[in-house]
Amino acid sequence: MKTKTLSTANFSRRSFLKSLGFGAATAIGLPVAMQSVSAAELPHIIVVGGGFAGATAAKYLQMWGGIGVQVTLIEPNENYVSPILSNLVLNGQKTTDSLTFGYQDHQNRGVRILHTSVSSIDKNNQTVALSNGQALSYDRLILAPGIEFDFVAGHDENKVPHAWKAGVQTNLLKTQLDSLPAGGSFVLTIPAAPYRCPPGPYERACVVADQLNNVRGLGASVTVLDENPNFTVEAETFAAQFARYGIAYIPNARVTSVNSEAKSLTYSVNGGAEQMLSASVLNVIPNQKAGQIIFDAGLNSGNWAPVNPLNYESTLASNIYVIGDSQGTGQPKAGHIGNSEAKVCADAVLRSLSGLAPDPAPKTNSACYSPVSRTEATWLTAVYEFNASTGQMQLVSTENYPYASAPSTRNYGDMFNWAGNLFDDTFG
Ligand SMILES: Cc1cc2nc3c(=O)[nH]c(=O)nc-3n(C[C@H](O)[C@H](O)[C@H](O)COP(=O)(O)OP(=O)(O)OC[C@H]3O[C@@H](n4cnc5c(N)ncnc54)[C@H](O)[C@@H]3O)c2cc1C
Repeated sequence: MKTKTLSTANFSRRSFLKSLGFGAATAIGLPVAMQSVSAAELPHIIVVGGGFAGATAAKYLQMWGGIGVQVTLIEPNENYVSPILSNLVLNGQKTTDSLTFGYQDHQNRGVRILHTSVSSIDKNNQTVALSNGQALSYDRLILAPGIEFDFVAGHDENKVPHAWKAGVQTNLLKTQLDSLPAGGSFVLTIPAAPYRCPPGPYERACVVADQLNNVRGLGASVTVLDENPNFTVEAETFAAQFARYGIAYIPNARVTSVNSEAKSLTYSVNGGAEQMLSASVLNVIPNQKAGQIIFDAGLNSGNWAPVNPLNYESTLASNIYVIGDSQGTGQPKAGHIGNSEAKVCADAVLRSLSGLAPDPAPKTNSACYSPVSRTEATWLTAVYEFNASTGQMQLVSTENYPYASAPSTRNYGDMFNWAGNLFDDTFG
């Protein structure tokens, strides 16, 4: 049954809101009569997905839009488990509970939270259908559904975890690693780029090797099959770390099938003959694509969603925006930059509701700390800026950026401060 809860904005309301302006400061100064505008009369912005990108967008839309907008965040889960720092669950330095965040602060800010999923989008009528049977209309729709996986034949994630979405999967991999026997083997596979968190799989191989052999003294073997021709980031650093831990690294290795019962897989190097490998613990990270709703709504080109990087509006539908891992601007698929994209998008959406053009020169920032042992981490940070002649975001190349720092205990400590700030800026 379709329940239209909010009407689409009309011209007079737009003009009224334009004269009002947006933002908390404006809201504070509003005459009482204007503050009594009912929610049903406000522009309605729906954000789909409460991860790093979506939760940030909802928070900043409400903070900057003030009482001039109604923001609804739709996320099926009551709590979000951060993939960031989740490799430290594998060596017992973190728990998934310690990486879990709710949406109470969003609610306190005035964001309406609906714990359900969007099952379809009607682009012409500007409505979304929810899996609870309801429908909602929107003036602007921001999609931040993260990633979906392309599983190869035989891959059952309940037996062979990817642990690339955090929570149950992370704990399953930890449980399996905890019972890895002396002299056992750990095999990790890395998908073709682009995938979520470029340094993440290399970081995981190091953390696990350190835990299995330096902490537990198991004398285990660690093998990494990488579908890419080389380490996709921080190549020298990770090559040195792999040598330090004796990790066997096989590039150009594409996984062709998985036997989830037997914990074995077949793979092919450079398209050559299939080979077989079995392991005590198998961690297959599948190839990735935009969240399913992007495909269902016809908002993809290939595996990702094409958008205008000035405002993240889909190039295939107006008033729909895509941010975070699903977007196809060529920027990395990572939480820190998803948070950054969300702010650019929130600003542009609020401007558009006032009839204003987006910022013509947006910049975004990416940062990844990668633990490589119990005490050391690397750090990689980059800035992207809009290039008006190509219409794309491009990497800023200066003596300061991109900046990569070799593993150190100082980075390891800084990593927790950085993550704490990002978590707070997103969910606090
Ligand atoms: C081991 C590991 C380490 C990492 N380390 C870093 C790091 O150091 N730095 C960094 O920047 N990034 C890091 N990342 C990457 C980062 O976690 C992701 O890039 C980030 O979570 C992506 O955010 P997102 O909001 O796009 O997607 P997600 O965080 O996946 O959020 C998407 C949300 O959308 C919801 N959703 C999906 N479909 C629907 C629907 N139809 N209706 C409603 N809701 C829906 C989902 O339930 C989910 O909560 C790491 C990742 C891993 C796995």
